[in-house]
Amino acid sequence: MSNRILIDPHTFARQKERIGGTVSPADLHERTHSPDLADLSATLAYSLQGGTDALQRPFLQLHLHGTLPVYCQRCMQPMDFVVDENVRIVLFADEQALDCAMLADETLEGMVAADETDVYTLLEDQLLMALPFSPKHGEDCQNGRFADALRRPNPFAVLAGLQKTD
Ligand SMILES: [Zn+2]
Repeated sequence: MSNRILIDPHTFARQKERIGGTVSPADLHERTHSPDLADLSATLAYSLQGGTDALQRPFLQLHLHGTLPVYCQRCMQPMDFVVDENVRIVLFADEQALDCAMLADETLEGMVAADETDVYTLLEDQLLMALPFSPKHGEDCQNGRFADALRRPNPFAVLAGLQKTD
């Protein structure tokens, strides 16, 4: 857990800096180690780009993408889950400014930036948002009972059939 990349977010944004690399859940804090994850060493690519938006507000654009194996909650076999999180985090000087901006724009992602921000904390927050709640295969699930349920005729169709034979 010694992986830390410290940036000054305001300088990073103002100077339009960019960093990128790969990260796996194993590199990140254990709060991201969901029991649904089948392989903590699977890697994701990330990039962080600084900039200033149309309202002259500094922002960090974070992109996290790749494929994580997760356990299907029906059959407990691993399946691929695609992560593609692209978020713009607008930086604010204090809570009051952040609250005002969030009232004006419900879709805004913002944070009060300290002088030092750990990129790994941003990655952890983003990964937690990306992880599926109770991931499941679709029709290709190996769980027999689920496959049977899909094949079972709709009860109303059965009823319609009975009526026809009357
Ligand atoms: Zn399954």
